[in-house]
Amino acid sequence: MSKLRFKAILDSQKRSRKYVEEKGRRSEQFASNVFNEDKMLQHLTKDALASVKSAIVSGSKIDRKIADQVAEAIKGWAINNGATHYTHWFQPLTGSTAEKHDAFFDLLPDGRALETFGGGQLVQQEPDASSFPHGGIRNTFEARGYTAWDPTSPAFIYGTTLCIPTIFVAYTGEALDNKAPLLRALHSVDQAATAVAKYFDKNVSKVNATLGWEQEYFLIDKSLAQSRPDIVMTGRTLIGQTAAKGQQLDDHYFGVIPSRVLSFMKELEVECTKLGIPVKTRHNEVAPNQFELAPVFEEANLAVDHNLLLMDVMEKVAEKHSLKVLFHEKPFAGINGSGKHNNWSLATDTGVNLLSPGSTPMKNLQFLTFFVNTIKAVDEYEELLRSSIASASNDHRLGTNEAPPAILSIFIGKQLNGVLDELEGVSKGKLSPEEKTELKLNVVGKIPEIMLDNTDRNRTSPFAFTGNKFEMRGVGSKTNCAKPMTVLNTIVAKQLIDFKKEVDILVDKKNLKKDEAIFNVLREYIKTSKRIRFDGDGYSSEWEKEAKKRKLSNNKNTPDALQVLTSKESLALFESMKVMSGVEIKARQEVELEAYILHVQIEGRVFNELIYSYIIPSVIEYQNRLIDNVMGLKDVFGASYKDYANSQLVIIQEISEHLDILKSKTDAMVEERKKANKMTDSHKKAYAYCEKVKPYFDEIRYRSDKLERLVDDELWPLTKYRELLFAK
Ligand code: ADP
Ligand code: MG
Repeated sequence: MSKLRFKAILDSQKRSRKYVEEKGRRSEQFASNVFNEDKMLQHLTKDALASVKSAIVSGSKIDRKIADQVAEAIKGWAINNGATHYTHWFQPLTGSTAEKHDAFFDLLPDGRALETFGGGQLVQQEPDASSFPHGGIRNTFEARGYTAWDPTSPAFIYGTTLCIPTIFVAYTGEALDNKAPLLRALHSVDQAATAVAKYFDKNVSKVNATLGWEQEYFLIDKSLAQSRPDIVMTGRTLIGQTAAKGQQLDDHYFGVIPSRVLSFMKELEVECTKLGIPVKTRHNEVAPNQFELAPVFEEANLAVDHNLLLMDVMEKVAEKHSLKVLFHEKPFAGINGSGKHNNWSLATDTGVNLLSPGSTPMKNLQFLTFFVNTIKAVDEYEELLRSSIASASNDHRLGTNEAPPAILSIFIGKQLNGVLDELEGVSKGKLSPEEKTELKLNVVGKIPEIMLDNTDRNRTSPFAFTGNKFEMRGVGSKTNCAKPMTVLNTIVAKQLIDFKKEVDILVDKKNLKKDEAIFNVLREYIKTSKRIRFDGDGYSSEWEKEAKKRKLSNNKNTPDALQVLTSKESLALFESMKVMSGVEIKARQEVELEAYILHVQIEGRVFNELIYSYIIPSVIEYQNRLIDNVMGLKDVFGASYKDYANSQLVIIQEISEHLDILKSKTDAMVEERKKANKMTDSHKKAYAYCEKVKPYFDEIRYRSDKLERLVDDELWPLTKYRELLFAK
């Protein structure tokens, strides 16, 4: 066994099992490190509290004097709780979070030290942001960028640092991050949904989009992970023969959580609890060493922040337990990858879930309104929604028969399909009293009963209605949920605005009653959005054909998926909803293409290194052993040696064949990479990487994995799947 591999396995076995006892009740620890409303009540003056609250509810500005007061209060609280530094915490377009720590410490001109943190530092900072991706925004405009406080997501103490969630924008106002567009989208869906919700209840004055994500991940022993250059550099295994046992026994799913993992989970949950992340469920997933964690759902912006924070906390806690978390969507071939279902709904400030059927016909009409409008929005912008979850790593999942397909469709179940079919049959214009009664009692009125036994769930659907929320299932485990949430909330907002216009016209101009008008418009939507509804097997090839007939998009790779971002319709949508300007969208497309290119480029380089520096030398060493053996047999048996060296000779030959192709494919890949690197247009370059470079990866892997089966285990240089996945 190679020294590296041997040491890694030895290390992994020496690990001390560290147990963390859960002390105290979770509910008492909850959000102890968060400057939330409770803390504000304790630490802020009435004026300051009112100002912050109104900023949270209506997005109003906080004036400088008040900001100073708030900063003073947060500083006092943070220092009392052990914080020494503060940072603006933001989401650059890299997909993760960034921070720049400053001490609360300053010197007066006379040399005395004091602890400073004023409204200025709370509200705005100017990080040296030149190295964050900006997709051209900061070349053509003012180069500087700044971060600005987002009061809707409370500050928190992480370790010894006070973290202040912020947006990140260029001086000219363009968003350089994922949070600013999300906040704009949430604002527009709030306005549009509130206006529609008022049809049913005048008291509604705010609607929040809610998000409950389910984070899947793999946990691998840290030394084993570090022994693999591909895991270290790319987050996944580029080569590796699948283990004799995979997930076929289904013995991992919901099985007993291994003790070392459980101690990691316990500590993670304690940390999350203090940070106000309401984690709730934990269990094993389908693949060996794969797990899932889900929280109670929250307002979408907060939920996005909490997911990003969670990913960070997970990495740090795992480190303490000598584990490595893999967030990559497909770390191992042959077993399931990881995703991050996004459960989404709309909630009013009167405590109503607008996607939850109610107990009266009126409440159900409200449910149907938001339900059908969401379907219509997704139908209209299915390709755009697909683009929001595109990434090089998620390409391994979408459309590979384990995660939802790349084709977007909606599953609503047999019963709700039945309701929509009946609504479609309603006559146009005014309804007779009989029709109305029939509709209200027998169609709309029956929905709650239906929902109770609407238990059939279609796991192959990318966008499923699950009783009181929609579940978007194609989101990658690494993806920042802000991206799909920005698109989903924007398209629903746009749709609700159009809906309200149409209903109001029917009421004002055609003299229809409000409920009649709503029925009329919904009926049209049900008719025109039919193609997006699909309840069958999303993995089947028939569906692919059928979807093509329905003119649904089927973008299997990232370069294809990203094209729609800059279509006339997408630009018009984002601009009219004031979510993103043309410049901002083009910048995002550019950044995503760039990320794709870099990702595949790095994988290509690692492939080259693995094959030349690890695989080829070990394979030759083993082949030499066989050759020595054959030579020895020749010495012993003379001319008849072949009778005794048959198998050896076959293996020597097989090795040579595989080796030959392995080398030539690797070289050809490198050549294609060189050609791609010369390209300057990012679209062309991304396509070159996708269509010319990447196809070699499978071929190289195939040969390398064949060789892994042939070569002596002792000589194989890389930690094997069996060791990575089944080490406890
Ligand atoms: P499954 O694994 O079957 O999809 P889970 O129970 O693991 O279901 O996850 C359900 C998720 O849906 C949880 O994260 C939960 O917080 C979230 N959720 C429940 N209700 C809502 C809602 N109204 N809005 C958004 N998310 C919700
Ligand atoms: Mg789910």
